[in-house]
Amino acid sequence: MNEIRLREPILAAQQAAGALIELDRITKTYTRGDVSVEVLHGISLSIYPGEFVAIMGASGSGKSTLMNILGCLDRPSGGSYRFAGHEVSTLDRDRQALLRREAFGFIFQQYNLLANADAVENVEVPAVYAGLPRSERMARARGILTSLGLGERLDHRPNQLSGGQQQRVSIARALMNGGQVILADEPTGALDSKSGEDVLRLLENLNADGHTVLLITHDPKVAERARRVIEIRDGEIISDSGPAPLSTEAAALRFRTDYAFGRKRVPMVTGPDMMEAGKVALRSLRANVLRTILTLLGIIVGVASVVAMVAIGDGAKQDVMRRIQAMGTNLLLVRPGAPNMRMAGGTTATLIAADAEAIEDLPDVDHAVGEYQSSVTVRYGTADYLTQANSTGPSFPQARDWPVARGSFFSADDMRGYAPVVVLGQTIVKNVFPPGEDPLGKYVLLNNVPFQVTGIMAARGASPMGSDQDDIVFTPLTTGQLRLHGQRHVRTITVQVEDVTKIDQVQAAIRNLLIERHRAEDFQIRNMASILETATQTQNTMTILLGSIAAISLMVGGIGVMNIMLVSVTERTREIGIRMATGARRINILMQFNTEAVVVCGIGGLIGIAGGIGAAMVMSRFGWSIAYNVWPVALAFGCAFATGLVFGFLPARKAANLDPVVALGAE
Ligand code: ADP
Ligand code: MG
Repeated sequence: MNEIRLREPILAAQQAAGALIELDRITKTYTRGDVSVEVLHGISLSIYPGEFVAIMGASGSGKSTLMNILGCLDRPSGGSYRFAGHEVSTLDRDRQALLRREAFGFIFQQYNLLANADAVENVEVPAVYAGLPRSERMARARGILTSLGLGERLDHRPNQLSGGQQQRVSIARALMNGGQVILADEPTGALDSKSGEDVLRLLENLNADGHTVLLITHDPKVAERARRVIEIRDGEIISDSGPAPLSTEAAALRFRTDYAFGRKRVPMVTGPDMMEAGKVALRSLRANVLRTILTLLGIIVGVASVVAMVAIGDGAKQDVMRRIQAMGTNLLLVRPGAPNMRMAGGTTATLIAADAEAIEDLPDVDHAVGEYQSSVTVRYGTADYLTQANSTGPSFPQARDWPVARGSFFSADDMRGYAPVVVLGQTIVKNVFPPGEDPLGKYVLLNNVPFQVTGIMAARGASPMGSDQDDIVFTPLTTGQLRLHGQRHVRTITVQVEDVTKIDQVQAAIRNLLIERHRAEDFQIRNMASILETATQTQNTMTILLGSIAAISLMVGGIGVMNIMLVSVTERTREIGIRMATGARRINILMQFNTEAVVVCGIGGLIGIAGGIGAAMVMSRFGWSIAYNVWPVALAFGCAFATGLVFGFLPARKAANLDPVVALGAE
């Protein structure tokens, strides 16, 4: 162990300030697998403010390891490290980050500049994490660069600068937050002798200005430039020339001893932090355009399909609802067949016209019409047309809420008198009569039986099942049974209830009446409300199904984002190390990567919403019903955004938990 004695008198100010750095029996052990190697064997040393110290030793002697501990980039395995009177080896990571950015400026052999940022942006970084406003930051960065002779190179990227210039940029960065203690690890190692000389002169000037400079080198010639030389071999100090007095008296006045890192409240995140995170995110996304586009694509497709699928599902649902509702919600349908023969409608012949008449006499029943339907051929002149003949009662237009457009529906008298009269649907008029000819009063042949046209129904359009409801003709039930269908049963009885709220009572009453008439329950009664409910459920299931398929594609997009972020973190580990060395806290790193993921997902989400709405609009051109809703759009965007947060978080946390020295050492 080396006992440091003050062999020369140093200035009063220096003594008064006390030691800036005090190491006491610092050890460092590296463990790889189950092999542990101690590379620092109890280093004790004191460094005073304003000193210019060279730490010299052969390659592998532990110089960099020592410097990383001094600069709080790494932790010692044992011993005590006091900085300006505070024990720092036990500080948490964020406080160490605070100390790094307040007290230290690092200069590395390989410069460690951010490759896709220009000189000014590189120099600004420490001030960003210190929360300096942008305008001040830029002015200060420009000022320092200019004073180091780089005024012409402010917007150059590292690869547009020579080695010497890059090293000067890194010195400027070290000075950005003050750089009271400059830690330079082989700063001239990669430079030609002229550039190396420039750098050494810069360090001398900085020391003259009051900066404490620790210069690490294997080269005795370089070490000579320092005012104190500490030699290290195999992790032990073998000689120390001892503290030297300050170079100038002016320097004594610049000491700073009020480092507040131990007490200062560490704010969560600041405005400039967020700005920087956003800026860096955009810069990095721009630097990998193709990758960004591919990642975006996953999110876009995911969000767009959610939006489009739900719009289509909802559209189909509303369409079905509208059509069912158009038929009336106050209807009951009575069909032949026992209730347990669910799909047997029409195969049994149990209902007759008289049942309908009996139902119509029940209280709260407006109308009840029996219907029997079969195919007939309509002939007029030379035109032949196959359609459905619906034989029903005179109150059909009221019961089905389907008015006559011209002429009139047949009457109760027509019904009683077996009148050969017919009311045509619009499609029949169009297909059987020449344009311009009025069908009213004309005779048509239905299966070769002449019928006189008394009316034309209003247009109805497509049914909920999509068939053309206007492709039909209506005859009195009596006439139809006798002349067209040849039997006396009805297929359905449609009952219109006066008051929807009494529909259940009416249904019960009909059931009792028919059981009494038939002496058996050989019929089924369904009401439109329950049909509507079934249809709603079916359609909801459909929408959920479509939505889930879309959600899966959104998730696949999210996994893509995570994958890209993981690659990005691995690729940019060195950048993370640089940022940490210049004072970034964990939250800064976490935010930077999260912002990147969120920006990708946010942009992808917006484009996806536009794409989804666009796709839905195209679908509606092709006749699909589309319903836009705010919630699926909001949900899809929310999901994309959350995807960014969730899938960005893991890689971001991985990045933020790296040790600065490990991150810096990454390739
Ligand atoms: P110098 O900077 O003086 O050349 P280093 O401090 O880089 O020396 O290394 C000192 C010793 O520690 C060397 O033997 C080196 O192999 C070892 N070492 C350095 N870093 C690690 C590490 N991360 N893991 C294991 N051993 C390491
Ligand atoms: Mg080294």
